[in-house]
Formats: sequence, structure tokens, C-alpha cells
Amino acid sequence: MTMSPPSPLIEALQQAVGAAHVLTEGDLSAYEHDWRRRARGRALAVVRPASAEQVAAVVRACVAHGATIVPQGGNTGLAVGSVPDETGTQVLLSLRRMDKVRAVDAANLTITVEAGCILQNLQGAAEAAGYLFPLSLAAEGSCTIGGNLATNAGGTQVVRYGNARELCLGLEVVTAQGEVWSGLTGLRKDNTGYDLRDLYIGSEGTLGIITAATLKLYPRPAAKLTAWAAVPSMQAAVDLLGLAHARLGAGLTGFEVMGQFALSLVDKHYPQLRVPLFKESPWCVLLENSDHESEAHARALFEQLLETALEGGCVTDAVVAENLTQAKGLWHIRESIPLAQAEEGLNIKHDISIPVSRIPAFVEETDALLAREIPGVRLVDFGHLGDGNLHYNVQAPEHGDAKAFLRDEEDRINTLVFDAVARHEGSISAEHGIGSLKAAKLPHYKSAVALGLMRGIKQALDPQGLMNPGRVLTTDSTGTGGN
Ligand code: FAD
Repeated sequence: MTMSPPSPLIEALQQAVGAAHVLTEGDLSAYEHDWRRRARGRALAVVRPASAEQVAAVVRACVAHGATIVPQGGNTGLAVGSVPDETGTQVLLSLRRMDKVRAVDAANLTITVEAGCILQNLQGAAEAAGYLFPLSLAAEGSCTIGGNLATNAGGTQVVRYGNARELCLGLEVVTAQGEVWSGLTGLRKDNTGYDLRDLYIGSEGTLGIITAATLKLYPRPAAKLTAWAAVPSMQAAVDLLGLAHARLGAGLTGFEVMGQFALSLVDKHYPQLRVPLFKESPWCVLLENSDHESEAHARALFEQLLETALEGGCVTDAVVAENLTQAKGLWHIRESIPLAQAEEGLNIKHDISIPVSRIPAFVEETDALLAREIPGVRLVDFGHLGDGNLHYNVQAPEHGDAKAFLRDEEDRINTLVFDAVARHEGSISAEHGIGSLKAAKLPHYKSAVALGLMRGIKQALDPQGLMNPGRVLTTDSTGTGGN
């Protein structure tokens, strides 16, 4: 059998990173499938650079040959942004080999890491240095900090520490022209013009490639306590959040809400997890209190808070974890909801945010609307209530063809939910990004002015349109709605 010679682009990529790190055959499915297996593309090649200079050389090779680039970190994204399309012409740029911790500056409370560093390893490096890196999400064992920044990831600690954007001080980026922008500053104040860092954060690989970041570190709390509370309504959950802010102040580091049906799926598929208190209550809340004084202080504050909440009626029952193992068990239940949902079958995910004050009305109205319009619909409702972020997911009816349900109803359901979000002045993507999954919907919920500015930025930074095309902005994105 004769092998055809590699194309000039493949040769240039091999020169950039070494032939062993340009994959064109064999099983590339781990790079080509998205996490939810909603999309499967085909890459011209998977390229695995080991440094910013190699990334720059890859980008220059792609520019010279007019090839488009899809950056990929841990491939855990939920908006279908990190996998190639079906044309077999795109270069899949995996950052996973760039996983080093470059420096810890203790006095400046910063850590500098490469983009392919797995989030859990970054948390571990911070801990080994005696500090906390607070970004935390269920995919932390697989997702990378580059992907976290590219999607401006949120997770479970946003109520105290903010999204990935708030945790980042500086970036190193390879531009769409193949230059390296070294913006790895650890400065907390720097008003010297336009904020380039914030343009790249949340741009989902459509403007350039993040190769490293300088991030904020925090002191580790002396104690962390977790409680699980049954609440009689979403309004009661919002009231409890207000009380927790007032009583715990900056100690409130987590506030998650979980609907009864979501928890019943965990109970059904993972009965060994022993979900507490959900059978008697429409909603449960998971609260976390981080205390810089002592465990006794944390426990006293938590118990006072829960007593007041029980007396006021916004909590009907509650348990406080006795130790770290119990606390981890409670968080594990929360983090198992997406997996239980996947076990149950096909579903439609909505990652929305609404002002916290309007969430009870949103849920009441939208639950009723969907029940009326889509008989048999099952709502898997949970999320980061502390940040106004709900995963308002829709499970196909129990009996029947789930595939046909998605094919026939997904667009209508998305429109019903997103229109309700817009009526309540919310966002159709709180933390997962737009990717290609929501790119067609974005123009309906973002104003023409905002989309025009976004297109101008894209044109200025990536005039050839080579960086992750079709993600975030489609070519015909002319906004009509939003504010
Ligand atoms: P990928 O999936 O590889 O890529 C995501 C996007 O970023 C793509 O558009 C890609 O092109 C781009 N990209 C990746 N790396 C770079 C880079 N270095 N430079 C430029 N662009 C790049 N998300 C949350 O925000 N909060 C949650 O609580 C949360 N929970 C999750 C739970 C589960 C079980 C799963 C599977 C996912 C969850 N996610 C959550 C979504 C996902 O983990 C995050 O979006 C994460 O930030 C993606 O990181 P990644 O390295 O996997 O990126």
C-alpha cells in the first residue's frame, strides 16, 4: 500500500510541533465528540503544541493555508464549541500538553499557569502553596483553566468569588495572526487603555488562543461547613438566600437550589447516595459557610441562621454536615444531578440567569406555560441560586420516543423558555457560553447594537475569520431583541 505524501499544511504543522504531535489517523473520537455527544465532527488534524511559541507557529501555518482553528481544552464544554465541524478541514488545537504551573507569587497572591492545566491540578497547586484557588465545578477533574477562561466559567463559588473573569489578572494569548501577546500581569490596578484581557475571556476561542493566565489566590478558610435545607417554595429559597447574606456576609461561599424531580432522579439512579429531605419538599438548598476564625464559630453562625430560618418558615427541615466526608457526600448529590439526568435519557439544557428577585415568578410562570404547551414535560430544575443561575432543563416525557421529542419540540421549547427569560430581563447563557448550540438564537435576544459591536471586535482581531468560526456569532447575526 502506498501512502500519499502529507499536504503542505500538515507538513507545516509537523514542523511547528513535531510529527508525533500532529494526529491525522487512529481513533480521534475523544477530540471530535462533544461531552454530551450531541455533535461529532471530523478534524483535518489534531495538533498538540507544548509552548506559546509552538501555538503561534501553528496559527501562522493555518493563516498561510487559510485553515480554520478550533481550540480545545478538556472538551467538557456544554455549548458545542470545542469540537470540529463535519467538513474534515479544521485544525483541532489541543492545549492539553501545556499544563505547567509557571509561578506562585505568595506576596502578590497570584499563580501563573499554562492554559492546559486541569482545574483540579491548579486547585491542588494553590493548596500546596497554602492558598485557595476558588473556581470549582463538577467537571474540574477534566476541564482546563484555558477552557474555563474562554467560557468565563462560573460554578459553585461565584456567590463569593465571582466567575473565572473575576479571578484572572493577566493573560498570555496567541493572536489570530500568530503573534504572542504577553499580558501576564499580576496587577490589580492597570488603567492603560482598552482591557484586552477581558475581550479574550468569554470569547470561546473566536478571537485568539489563551496559552497562560495569572490568577488570583485567596487565603484558605479555617473551616468550611455545609448544610442541606428543605424549603417550601422558590420564594422561601430566595428569602433564605437573603438571610444567609445578612448573617454570613463574605462567609457565604455556596448556595445551590435543587428541585424535587431533579433529586428524585439522583435517588432513582444512585440510591446509594441517600438524598436527604427531598420527598417532603418541593425544593432543597445546599449552603456552604467558609469561616476564617474556627469551625466552632462557623457552626454557631450556621446554627443561628438555620434556627431563624426555621422559625420564619423559609426552612422546614435542615441538616448540617458533621464532618468533611458528610459535606462531600452532600455536594456529591448536587453534582450528580447532570449525570442522573443523562441516565434518565435525552434532555434539553437551559443555562439561564435571571435577577434573583424575579426567579420565583419566572419559575412559576414558565413551569405552568410548559405544562400547558408540552403535555407530559418533566422539568429538571437546579442551579446556582446565589448567582441567579438556573439550569432549567427539560426531560422528554417518560413514555415515548425521546429522540423524536427532541427533534420535534426542542426549538419550540427553547423559544418558550428564552422568551420567558427575556421577559424577566435575564440571559440565555449564564455560564456555559453560546458555542454553536445557541449561536442561531443569540440574535433574537441580543440587540443589534451589541451584536454590531461584537462583529466589529471579531473583524478587528480575526479579519480572516479563522478562529473557531460559527461559534458565538453566525455570519448572518443581525440582532433584533435584547437590551
Ligand atoms: P472546552 O470544552 O475544551 O472548550 C470550551 C470552549 O472554550 C470552546 O469554545 C473552545 O474552543 C474554547 N477554548 C478551550 N480552551 C481554549 C483556549 N486555551 N483558548 C481559547 N479558547 C479555548 N460550566 C460552568 O461554568 N459551571 C459549572 O458549574 C459547570 N458544570 C459542569 C458540569 C459537568 C458535569 C460538565 C460536563 C460541564 C460543566 N460545565 C460547567 C461546563 C464546562 O465544564 C465549562 O464550560 C469549562 O469551562 C470548559 O472547560 P474545558 O477546558 O473543558 O473547555
